Amino acid sequence: MTAGDGTLDPFDAFREDVDVRATGRGSGLRTGGAADGERSVAVVGGAMAGLAAAHAFSRLDWDVELYERQSFDEKRVNCGEAMTDVTRIPLEKTPENGFANDTPIFEVQVFTGDVDDRELAGTGRFPASRAYVTDRALVERAWAARLREDGVDVRENTGVSKADFDALCERHDLVVDATGQPSLASKIEGTTAEYAGAMTALNADVEGDFSDLYPDSRIVFENYLGYSWVFPKSESRANVGIGWAQDRQPESYMAAFEAACERNDWPVPTREQANVYTIPRGPSLDPERTWLPDRGVVRVGDAAGIANRFTGKGISQAIESSYLAAVHADADVLEAYPDALYARLRDEYRLAYVVRGALEDGRPDILSGVMEAVSGIDVEDVDRNPRKAFARLARHPVLVANMLGSKPMLQRAWRAWTNDWEFRHLEDASAR
Ligand SMILES: Cc1cc2nc3c(=O)[nH]c(=O)nc-3n(C[C@H](O)[C@H](O)[C@H](O)COP(=O)(O)OP(=O)(O)OC[C@H]3O[C@@H](n4cnc5c(N)ncnc54)[C@H](O)[C@@H]3O)c2cc1C
Repeated sequence: MTAGDGTLDPFDAFREDVDVRATGRGSGLRTGGAADGERSVAVVGGAMAGLAAAHAFSRLDWDVELYERQSFDEKRVNCGEAMTDVTRIPLEKTPENGFANDTPIFEVQVFTGDVDDRELAGTGRFPASRAYVTDRALVERAWAARLREDGVDVRENTGVSKADFDALCERHDLVVDATGQPSLASKIEGTTAEYAGAMTALNADVEGDFSDLYPDSRIVFENYLGYSWVFPKSESRANVGIGWAQDRQPESYMAAFEAACERNDWPVPTREQANVYTIPRGPSLDPERTWLPDRGVVRVGDAAGIANRFTGKGISQAIESSYLAAVHADADVLEAYPDALYARLRDEYRLAYVVRGALEDGRPDILSGVMEAVSGIDVEDVDRNPRKAFARLARHPVLVANMLGSKPMLQRAWRAWTNDWEFRHLEDASAR
């Protein structure tokens, strides 16, 4: 099958590249779900991770049921809606499928000083060879329609309760928990505290004049623990948003959102236009907890707590985790999925953790230096190939000396290097 434009289906291409290794412990998958001996999977949650899981298992000839509590025609998504081709979505990148704007550059501005008396300290410009600002609800609708054509049993407007979830676990060989964060499985197990850290974020689709910026996109750091963004979909429409770390939130989200739009000269959204949601800060869930063999449940996407620690980007990670889980389940080595997932994301976590430290430790000057030093690297390489970013940093000895001269930054670098992440300290908080 092709992706609709004559190229190999992105999941099939992914599969060819994955090295699946058994650990010899057995996957714990139960057998004999479907009457005809075909293996069956229930996917709970029909956003990016769930759609990807349904797609992958269907390509592997499993019998697939997909449950989504909202209607795809009315779905409201809380997101900046920016994504790249790394997402491996098997749809043509057309406006009809929701891919509104090819965005060639993501510009990052870093300000120092107080938000009301701020000073532009540095700008990074990151080319994005195949990046899009989307109407994500349209993308999800088109993908769900494609799954139906492929024979997936797509059940929208069907929320899965805790009791339903247990029944699905009984009836299927495998249940994929793609319900976002905190996941339905964690609610059932009473372990929602195992997710560490999150950002509260608001976003809105607004109309205005974006001709100065279009087709590029912009992210703004203004010396608080969070950031705001404007991602134009056309010269006259954009997704604007703002997020804060949950322990450093403003008194009124909406007032702070309005003020940020005014500061940045973006249209101010109404309350009705604004969505409020949580951006998980990955890695927020211990990777070991992404496969629950006793229940026959695997967690993917935000349910697995894997969004980027610094940028909040989680779509490509969600899809990658689903594809990876499907390949491991099909080879009956699902017990190897947590380690495989962690190994793929570890470098990205490291860089994100260290860079985010500049904001957490109140050093926007260091952040602006980092952005200028790594400016010019493809936006996906910043996440996927952080060695490029580290190599660039190495060319700036004064900046590196500044970073190493800051004790908290040094501690961060050490914790990142030794994989000493915050989820390792959560064992007491989460009732395992
Ligand atoms: C404001 C904001 C801006 C963001 N911007 C970006 C961005 O620009 N680019 C990017 O890559 N990432 C972005 N992210 C992160 C990204 O949105 C998430 O990482 C991504 O949506 C994760 O996808 P998911 O499918 O795992 O989970 P979700 O998108 O949370 O989807 C979970 C799905 O499960 C369904 N569901 C939940 N419970 C049940 C149930 N019991 N039964 C049935 N269905 C259920 C929900 O209706 C939903 O459709 C942003 C996040 C936020 C909050």
